[in-house]
Order: sequence, then C-alpha cells, then structure tokens
Amino acid sequence: MSPAHSVLHAVFGYAQFRGPQEAIIEHVAAGGDALVLMPTGGGKSLCYQVPAIVRQRAGQGVAIVVSPLIALMHDQVGALHEAGVEAAFLNSTLDWQQTLDVERRLARGDITLLYAAPERVVTERFLGLLDDLHARGQLSLFAIDEAHCVSQWGHDFRPEYRQLTVLHQRYAGVPRIALTATADGLTRADIATGLQLQDARQFVSSFDRPNIRYRIEEKKQPLEQLLRFIEREHAGDAGVVYCQSRKRVEELAQGLQDAGVNALPYHAGLPADMRQQHQDRFLREDGVVMVATIAFGMGIDKPDVRFVAHVDMPKNIEGYYQETGRAGRDGLPADAWMVYGLQDVVNQRRMIEGGDAAEEFKAVLRGKLDALLALAEATDCRRVRLLRYFGEESKPCGNCDNCLNPPAVWDGTDAARKLLSTIYRIQQQDAGLTFGLGHLMDVVRGQETDKVRQFGHQQLSTFGLGAPYSEAQLRAVARQLLALGAIGVQRVTTEAGHAFDTLTLTAASRPVLRGEQAVLLREATAQARGKKTRRAGALPVAAADLGPDAQVRFINLKAWRAEVARAHNLPAYVIFHDATLAAIAQQHPQSIAELEGINGMGTKKLEAYGADVLRVVGL
Ligand code: ADP
Ligand code: ZN
Repeated sequence: MSPAHSVLHAVFGYAQFRGPQEAIIEHVAAGGDALVLMPTGGGKSLCYQVPAIVRQRAGQGVAIVVSPLIALMHDQVGALHEAGVEAAFLNSTLDWQQTLDVERRLARGDITLLYAAPERVVTERFLGLLDDLHARGQLSLFAIDEAHCVSQWGHDFRPEYRQLTVLHQRYAGVPRIALTATADGLTRADIATGLQLQDARQFVSSFDRPNIRYRIEEKKQPLEQLLRFIEREHAGDAGVVYCQSRKRVEELAQGLQDAGVNALPYHAGLPADMRQQHQDRFLREDGVVMVATIAFGMGIDKPDVRFVAHVDMPKNIEGYYQETGRAGRDGLPADAWMVYGLQDVVNQRRMIEGGDAAEEFKAVLRGKLDALLALAEATDCRRVRLLRYFGEESKPCGNCDNCLNPPAVWDGTDAARKLLSTIYRIQQQDAGLTFGLGHLMDVVRGQETDKVRQFGHQQLSTFGLGAPYSEAQLRAVARQLLALGAIGVQRVTTEAGHAFDTLTLTAASRPVLRGEQAVLLREATAQARGKKTRRAGALPVAAADLGPDAQVRFINLKAWRAEVARAHNLPAYVIFHDATLAAIAQQHPQSIAELEGINGMGTKKLEAYGADVLRVVGL
C-alpha cells in the first residue's frame, strides 16, 4: 500500500480515492506543482491534506494552506483534529497570546497543516516564520484554495492573491497546489499566470454532479411553490434559497418561518454579527434553511445541504452552476430547484440594457443571459446543456426533470407570429407609444380595455386573433420569445424625464414572423407531475432506505452526535457524516472490529468514539 493510501484509510477512514484524487495526490506528494479544477463536492481538501500528511511523516515539515475564508478555518482545523491530524490557523480571530502559541508550535515542528488568510501570508512577519522553516527544510507544501480569487474576471477577486507569487519566488523548491471549483477557461488561464503556475500540471475533472437533480418550473406564486417543495420533499433538511434582492430575502424568510420552516435570512445589508450568527446556525444546527442573496455561500463546505432553490433567476449559467453546486457535496441525492417566469426575463434584460456598461460588454452579458434562458426553456436534458456550456459533451442524464418527465411539447409558432405582428402593428400605428406585456396580451386576446380603446387598438387586424389560446399559453409564448430575444425590451425616456419600458421587435423577430423558425414550448398548462416520493418524517436522505430498527439506531446515533458536536463546538458533520451514521445503523456492528471497515471511520475516530457508538447502537 502506498503512503497516500494508508493515510486515506487510517486517517480519513475512506476506502477509495475519488476520481482524479489519487493522481493529484501522488503528483503533489512527490513534490510536483498542480492546478486542480474540480467541482464543488469533488473532494479538493484531500488533494492537499493527504500530501501534507505524507510529506510531514517523511520529515518534510509543515504545509501552508492559503484560504480567504477566515470564518471557516476554525471548523476546518477542528475536522482535522477529529481525524487526529495536528492543524492550526493564524488569522485575525486569534488574540496575541494565541498567535504566539501557534507560532511556537510551528517552529517546534508540531503542526502538519497551517491555515492562513492571504493577507496574513504576505506580511513580513509571516514570511519571516516561513524563512526560518525553509532554512531548516521544514516547509513541505503550499496549498492555495479558492484559487479563482486571483482572477479579476470573477466576482470573488481578492487583490492579495496576486501577491502570492512571493511564495514561488522566495521558496522556489517547495511544491504548490492551487485549487478551484470555477470551470471556465478564462479563469484557469488567469490562475496559471496570476500565481505563476504555468508549468504546473493541470488536473481538470468532469464538472458533472450526478447526484444533483436539476429542476426548473414556471414561477407562479414563489412562496407557495417553495413551501410545497420543502414540505413535500425536504422537510427537516438543510437547504439554501437564493433571491435577487435583500427585500425578497426578508420576505421569503419571514414567509417560511410563518409556515414553521426553520429559516434564516442572510444578505450584505444585515449587521456582520447577525450574518455570522446565522451562518453558524446553518452550519451547526440540523435542517436550517438559509434564505440568501449571492453574498452567501462561497466556501460553505457543509456537505449535507439537500437542496438549493432559486426563486429568482441568476444572471448566467456560471452563477447558477456555482450556487446549485453547494447542494449534495456528500454525494447523496440533492435537488437544484428553480422557478422562473416572465418577469425574471424582463428584469434581467432591463438590468443589462439600463446599465452603463460598454456595448461590447452588454453583448457578452446578453449572450450569457440567453444561454441561461435557453436552459430554462429547454425541453431536453438540462444536464447535457449545462455540461455543454462548460465544454463537456454527455448523454441524457436520467436525473433531471426533463429526463424524468419528458414535457409535452406544443407548437407555439402560430401564437408567436400573432404576438409579433401585433407589436409590429402597434408600432406602425402609434410610433413612440410605450406598452408592456399586459397591453400586448389584451390586444391579442381581444380585451377592450381603456388603453385599447384610447388608442383604437381594437381596430388592429390582429385584435382578438389569439382568442383560441389560453392566457397561460400566450404568456408562455411571450416568455419564450423574450428568452430567444425575438421580443426586445427598450427603455424610452419621455421629454418630461420619465422612463418607460416598451416592447419592440428585434433582428431575431424576423425568422419567427416569416414562419421560418418554429417556436416549440413545454406544455404550460397541463404540467405533468411525476409521483413525488414523500420521505417519511424528517429522516435525512442518507437514512431513507433503512428498515425500522435501523432507523431507530440512526436517530439515536444522531442524537449522540449532536451532543458530541456541541461539546466540541463543531458542526455535527465534522464528527461523522450522515452517510457514516446510516452505514453504522444499517450494519449494526457488535464489536470494534466490525466498526473498522465503515466508510468515514478512521483510526482516531474509532479510538475516540468506537465504544460510545457500540453502546448507542446496542441501546
Ligand atoms: P470540495 O472542497 O471539492 O467541495 P470537499 O473536500 O469538501 O470537497 O469534499 C466533499 C466531501 O466529500 C467531504 O465531506 C469529504 O469528506 C468527502 N470525501 C472526499 N474525498 C472522499 C473519498 N475519497 N471518499 C469518501 N468521501 C470523500
Ligand atoms: Zn437529464
């Protein structure tokens, strides 16, 4: 057995490496540089933790882990302690005495992994500590986590990351591994140059997350839909609900609380201590639902988030994928659920057009939005489209809404032409008139409203031509046309300085108007719902398949784990994952020897908890 394998078994209690972990770990343990792109939940931490332990055991000293996520260092280090690994962190949460203490342990060679924030790493004091270690050959490895923070293109840009090249310049012989879950090529190139890792071996994993089920539904009443989704499928589960605005976050969190869901709000407008407190509760308590803006989530490594819900549409597929990726890091089934509607499309288009970005930049934003809209309107496999966006070809997945319940499709070409020619006629007759979807619907459906009469639109040749269609159908067609960019939204400012949005035709309208491009839609009205499997009580997904006796053992184990976690001031999953508890409950071990093979049961944990676990399952 290689040293890396024995660390995997003895320290972490895992039977096998996942995907490319083994190749990465062997490369880095042997002193190579690596740039690792792996999706969230792929298992990046082991890629530097195992080499760090292997190299430390070979007498090569301490590994430095650079991470921007100060708030999470305590739990990361705690998890290593639980596994019997000497780890520590240096950051602004420590007082002077504690800092000196860590520095002393570091100098003595008592630490295998040291976590620090980038701004700390580049200080002269810290570099002085490293100089000393390096001079004694006791600097084994640099791991640079969340490496995409070096890229100016992403929204997590951290200028201090650029200064990390000092590590390479000052300690040229020490191997470096940079890791990120950001998939795109631009960011990858930025990391290679920004961190001077051009010569590092690149390990690019598949970005597929097979355990995540993608679902996108039409938005009607978001709170009711969300409640139904949580109650039917995720009662008692931890989840994240993403919204666009702070106001929306507050409303939805309140709405969920009123309905008895353990929900908390999180956005940048809340006081820092409240944000921290809500984050802690999300990490530590079972089954908290965090209602948040995108300010929440980077680096949240809670493995048992069972769903990520979007009640507003994100800006692009990158955002959607990053946010949904926070579900199911433990590899157990999880849901990515989104509702989206016409208003989302209009809002997003308006934000782009109304912004004062340069035209080329707007064009990029439009392209990215279009790709997301196409995903939302798709009637074929969502995963195939998602992966293709990131340059990966794949087969229909069998684990998205469209694969599981292929949607009925109807031909909306005729309705689309009627909508577009109505816009055309209104513009011809009343150039400069601003009107929105409501008015367009009224004309096409033949409703004589005040505005219709005021402008004489009941005279238009298309008035009432849409009568054969239901309002829902027409709205679905309009949404699709907006998604396709075949209906445009333009902001018009009147002489008095008032701004109105109005619908317009675009270059993309022409082929549809001429009947050259078919408009196929998912059946809006008769949405065929598959049977929803309602899970018994609030049993987590890991325990869904357990028999009645095993369920009792599982519940007892969870209660015991909660006590231990509280006593150690750590999240429960750091003690044992749900999957490990479920395996114990299932196998009902009678002896330490029988506990030994269970996934997640390393030597240290067996020693520390084995007897307690046997007692709990014997109750
Ligand atoms: P990432 O940082 O890539 O999002 P993590 O390193 O947090 O992922 O790993 C995700 C989860 O998978 C963690 O809970 C980790 O313990 C678990 N894990 C990682 N590698 C393995 C493995 N080889 N076998 C079993 N579980 C693993
Ligand atoms: Zn699919």
